[in-house]
Amino acid sequence: MRYVILRDDDTNATTPAGCLEQLYRPFLARHLPVNLATIPHVRTDARRADGRPEEFVFGRPDPAKPRVWIGANRELVAYLQENSGYEIAQHGYDHSLDEFGSRDTRDLKRRLDKGAQLLAAAGFARPSAFVAPYDRFSAAALRLTAARFGVVSTGWFELRRLPLGWWPAYAGKKLAATAHWRIGATRLLSHPGCLLSRFRPRESMLENIRRTVAAQPLTVLVTHWWEYFPDGRPDEEFIAVLHRTAEFLAGEPDLRVIGFSDLARHAVPAR
Ligand SMILES: [Zn+2]
Repeated sequence: MRYVILRDDDTNATTPAGCLEQLYRPFLARHLPVNLATIPHVRTDARRADGRPEEFVFGRPDPAKPRVWIGANRELVAYLQENSGYEIAQHGYDHSLDEFGSRDTRDLKRRLDKGAQLLAAAGFARPSAFVAPYDRFSAAALRLTAARFGVVSTGWFELRRLPLGWWPAYAGKKLAATAHWRIGATRLLSHPGCLLSRFRPRESMLENIRRTVAAQPLTVLVTHWWEYFPDGRPDEEFIAVLHRTAEFLAGEPDLRVIGFSDLARHAVPAR
């Protein structure tokens, strides 16, 4: 059996429920779980490393509100709670550029605590997994998140950004040439880049996913809901690729699509 986790990043208070519905109905209808890495208290002035505004801040947010709590979008919260196929992972706190690349342990703890409180206050179950904005982790942030979550999902791991005590386990992972490893009871997952992205050629996207999934026991497929809605309008062609991916994932007899919580409960023997 092979496993796939679908991780969609950047759901936040400005995300219209209708966008997620348009993207993920074919997944929910086939009982394929969708893991939403959700920003608890999004910065409405969030900017990318190149200075351009982040496209995940949707519509025209009120400039008088520098941050918006996920629970403020009642329609979105109700929609996510009505559809049990969605699973919420904590995606940072406010999605500042380098928020979990920081070495400031006090600030990191504060962001983890406040983020968790705000997700709980919105009515979500306690997340099993943590995803750092831009997949950027300092050693201190990795140590703190691994102590709190059953799963940490990121792009890749590199020695110089790991806590010292993790080095022997990391050497074992390197020797075994596995994509995923663990520290204590926490699963540490890497992913093969964003295969479902508008920055990749559409003709080969599904084939690339097919090949990647076939080559390893567990694949984390990462995508971003807002990439399917440039300037607020649906990119039907790209959405069709996502929907064909759902069809492919559901149609493979030896493949199971799982949630982060399945891994955290050790219900899946994935390496
Ligand atoms: Zn993000």
